[in-house]
Formats: sequence, structure tokens, C-alpha cells
Amino acid sequence: MIDCGLFQGLKELRLRNWDEFPVPPGSLDAVVLTHAHLDHVGYLPRLTANGYKGRVFCTPGTKDLCQLVLPDAGRIQEEDARQANKHGYSKHDPALPLFGESDALRALTYLQPLGFERPIDVAPGISIEFHPAGHLLGSAFVVVRLSDGPRILFGGDLGRYNRPILPDPSVAIAADVVLVESTYGDRDHQADDSGAQLAVVIRKTAGRHGKLVIPAFAIGRVEELLYWVRRLEAEHRIPVLPVYVDSPMATDALRYYSARVAELDPGLRPTSGQVYAFATTRFQTIASPQQSKELTASRRPAVVISSSGMATGGRVLHHLAAALPDEKNTVLFVGYQAVGTRGRQLVDGVREVRIHGRDVPVNASVAKIDSMSAHADRGEILRWLGTLGSAPRRLCLVHGEQGPMDALKTLIHDRLSWAPYTPQHGETIEL
Ligand SMILES: [Zn+2]
Repeated sequence: MIDCGLFQGLKELRLRNWDEFPVPPGSLDAVVLTHAHLDHVGYLPRLTANGYKGRVFCTPGTKDLCQLVLPDAGRIQEEDARQANKHGYSKHDPALPLFGESDALRALTYLQPLGFERPIDVAPGISIEFHPAGHLLGSAFVVVRLSDGPRILFGGDLGRYNRPILPDPSVAIAADVVLVESTYGDRDHQADDSGAQLAVVIRKTAGRHGKLVIPAFAIGRVEELLYWVRRLEAEHRIPVLPVYVDSPMATDALRYYSARVAELDPGLRPTSGQVYAFATTRFQTIASPQQSKELTASRRPAVVISSSGMATGGRVLHHLAAALPDEKNTVLFVGYQAVGTRGRQLVDGVREVRIHGRDVPVNASVAKIDSMSAHADRGEILRWLGTLGSAPRRLCLVHGEQGPMDALKTLIHDRLSWAPYTPQHGETIEL
């Protein structure tokens, strides 16, 4: 089984997490993970709780990050079930979590780290090999070789080219069957602006002696933000301000990224003596809730990076509640904001937002930068497919909504004269 993720987003999709698993979990020989995002690993605690007994192969970087995201997901599931029972809004009595923190901790013991480009037999007649995908620390695409059978390339999630933190995706490996993601199959990302927009936001906020609060996804995005702040400081394009990372998970992830600097972009090397490869001039991580409270209350100019990225929970809510009423401050969003989240409301320009049961007036500036995505856009997907050399016998587009998937299908047909296939959920394909 390649990847073992949770359905996320719309309720009709999330309900699929509760469906009976297509095969008895105990009948699987091996699980292979491409990277540690929850839509690729989040079902693992349920799989192991329901009888899976084999090993779970992943890169060491993916193992690191699983140690952060899986227990956290278990805690969130438990908290959601608690809330549903407290307010009685579940059909089920009592509402149960999909899995709990203890299930997640148990699932971690199944992880079997395996380095890049180290082929290994994972089941009789089946070997796998990881190659760097440039999407997240440890992210990989997987070549699966069947003895006397076809070779299959599972693309996982594909990263981007010429980005600061991670190296470019590796050259694709020729295979009979190739699966590639299509998340942004219908568009190109905003061109990289060398930090220009971020510099403007920081300079303006500093000019007003305000605070800049940046809600950010704890893993990957925080590293990229710190990289740009550090570079803008070095190039004297912004004033040097105190920069705080106030998120326990982000702090742990920074440690993991910094420990695996050899896997990161070659241009990124820590200055000697620094714990973090990303530390800005006046950099500090916030550990205790008490420190976090003090930072929240402080009115001194600073950059505060905290999660969650869509302002749906976490410590960033305290920072937003304190910063939003003051027009000196800025709140900057650097990632996709889903419909229904506080982040989306703020980006859409609401004058008031509800936080911890209180209506908070929005007087601060609200800004948004779109260029920091971890997923390849359509041009980058084409570029990577081009490294295959020739058309695979079968190319399947996966991991996308219908619109982007269909758009990518047309684009690949027009540009490469290949005929991609778009399988549906649950479909079986003959190799
Ligand atoms: Zn991903």
C-alpha cells in the first residue's frame, strides 16, 4: 500500500475516513509512505489499530515529521469528539474519535526508515526505492519494481523548482506505469518575487511601530518565511526586528529540518554555532504558554509566526485577538485559506471576527502573499514528466479535484502528445 492518508476538507470526503477499509488491514504485506502530510499518513493509526501487522517504510525525514503530526492528529480527533459530546452535535452517542493519541504513538513504532536510492524488498517479489521529491522534508517519489512485472512510479506530492528550502524534485525514473498528482493542474503559481512583497509588508508595519502576526502551517512554511526574513535582513531590505516562532510543533519541525540540512537546498547552510539553519538576527522560539502570553501582551514591534495557518486553532488565535484591534499591526497570510475558516474571513475583509467566544474588531491591516506553495504547478508537473524521456505505457493523474485533473489531462495531451488517464476513487486498473 502506497500512502495511508486521511480524507480532509468537505464533510462528504471526511466521512470516507469512517468507511470500512477496502481489504482487511491484516492482509497487507507492507505500507510505503511518500511524505508526512496528513492526507498521506493520517490513516496509519487507524490501520494499525485495526490489525495491520507489517512494516511501514518511509524516509528518515518522514519518520521525524510523523512523530509530530500523528500524535497531534490523535489529540485533535479526541478533542473534536469531546466537543461533539459536550454540545451534543454528533449523531453518534457517544461520539468517538477516529483514533486517539495512544493509537498514533503505537503507529509510530511500525515506521521503518529507509534512505533515498536504497532499493529494498518490502514483500515477496516487490521492491521499492525512494527518490527526493522536493515537497517537504523527507518527501519522496517511489519506484516499485515487481519481479517479472511492470515497473510503477508513484509520484507522491511533487515539489517545486528553484525554491529556497528544498532541492528540486529529482529526475523521474522511467517506468511502465506512472502516477502523478494534479493538485494545481490548472494553474501557474505567482512568480517568485525574491521576497519583495514580504519586504513591503514588514517595512510598512515597522514604519507604524506595529506588530506583524503571520499565521503559518507549522511544517515547511515556517522554514520558508524565516529564510526570506533572514535574507531580507542580510540584504538590508528590512529593519532587523525580533522574530518569534510561537508554536511547539513548528519549533520541533525547525529542529528536524536543521538536523537534516544535507537534504535541503545546497544554498542553505547554517552559520556556525546556530541551532537552526533558519535563524534570523534576533530570533527566538517560544516554549512555555507563559512566554507566549507575555509575547501576546507585548506591544513592541516584532514579527510573530504562529500556527495554525488558517487561524482555526492554536496559539495564533491569542496573537490575533490581541493584534487585530490595533491599526498599527498587520496580519499576513501566506497560505491557502479554506472556505469557512477565520483566515478566509479575514482575507475576505470582515470588520469583526469571533475568537474564543468574543467578537474582535479588525482594525489592523490584513495582507496575503500567494507565492509560497509546496506543490508543483502545471508547468512544473510538465517539466518533471518531461524528465521521463519517453511516454510511459500508462500515465494516471491522481490527487486532484476533477477540474484541475481534467485541465492537466488536456495540457499533457497538447504539449507531450501523451494520453493520460484519470482514474476514479476505488477504481481497479489492470497492469
Ligand atoms: Zn503533501
